[in-house]
Amino acid sequence: MNIVLLGPPGAGKGTQAKRLEERYGLIQLSTGDMLRAAVASGSEIGQRAKAIMEAGQLVPDEVVIALIADRIDRPDAKKGFILDGFPRTTKQAEALDRMLAEKGIRLDHVIEMKVDDALLVDRISGRYTCAKCGAGYHDRNQKPKVDGVCDACGSTEFKRRADDNAETVSKRLEAYHAQTAPILPYYRAKGALKSVDGMAPIDDVTVALGAILDGAARPKAKAKPAGRAKAKPKAKRAGKAKAKAKKRPKARKKPARGKRKARPARGRRPASKAARRSRKPARRRKK
Ligand code: AMP
Repeated sequence: MNIVLLGPPGAGKGTQAKRLEERYGLIQLSTGDMLRAAVASGSEIGQRAKAIMEAGQLVPDEVVIALIADRIDRPDAKKGFILDGFPRTTKQAEALDRMLAEKGIRLDHVIEMKVDDALLVDRISGRYTCAKCGAGYHDRNQKPKVDGVCDACGSTEFKRRADDNAETVSKRLEAYHAQTAPILPYYRAKGALKSVDGMAPIDDVTVALGAILDGAARPKAKAKPAGRAKAKPKAKRAGKAKAKAKKRPKARKKPARGKRKARPARGRRPASKAARRSRKPARRRKK
C-alpha cells in the first residue's frame, strides 16, 4: 500500500505516518527528514537547502524529486510507503505520477489532514523531540510523564527544529497555501483525495485514517457491484425463473360453470340493504 499524506506543517503528518508505519508495515518517506539529514551531514544538497529551510521556503523541486526518486528505489520501500511532506507543489505531484508510472507502482491513497492555521502556530512552536529515539513531545499538549525524561527510551536529551519558531512557521504556512494547497484540486480531480480532521485528538485521527485504509483493503468479493450486475449464464437463469414461479401464490381457480353465481343483468344490480329498507312498500292494487 502506497500513501501520500497531505496537510500544512504541524498537521500531524509525521506523527500519524509513524503509527501507520507500525500498523501496516510501511515505510515513512519524509522529504523534510531527508533534507535535515543532508543539512546535518554537510552534503552539497544540505548546504543548498539549509538557508532555504531556515527561511521557511521550499527547496527547489528538482532537488526533492531526485531525493524521492532515489529513495523509492531502495528495497525497504518495496513493501509500501507513506510520503510525508512530498509532493508540495503541482510540479512535484506531476513528477511523482510520472515516476510511479515508470516504475509500475500504484498510489493507493492521497489523504489530506485538515487543520486551522490558528492552531498550527501553537502546535509547531511548542514541539520538540527526543534526541535519541525521535519520540515527539509538546510544551503544553504532550509532556513526558517524568519531566525531562523521554517516555520511550529514558534519554534526557531533547531537540527542537531550527524552523519551529513562530516567525518561520508563518512563512511555512504561507508557502503551504501558495504552493502546496493548489495540489489538492489536482488529486481531487482524479477522484483520489480523501480528508480527515487533523484537529481531532491524535488517537481519533489514527482511527479515521485506519477507516480509510482498512475500508479499501477489504476483499473485493464482498463489495457490492457498483454498476449493473453481470448477466448470469442462461441455464442458471432458467433454474431461478422456475424456482420463482414455484414460490408465486397460485391463482384462484374459477368455480365450475354451473356453480357460478349468476351475474345480475346490466343496470339491474341489486340495491344495497339500506336502500331496500328505505324504499316505500309497493302500493297494493285495489280489488
Ligand atoms: P517538513 O519537515 O516537511 O516540515 O519540511 C521542512 C522543510 O523542508 C520545509 O519547510 C521545506 O523548506 C523543506 N521541504 C521538505 N519537503 C519539501 C518538498 N517536498 N519540497 C520543497 N521543500 C521541502
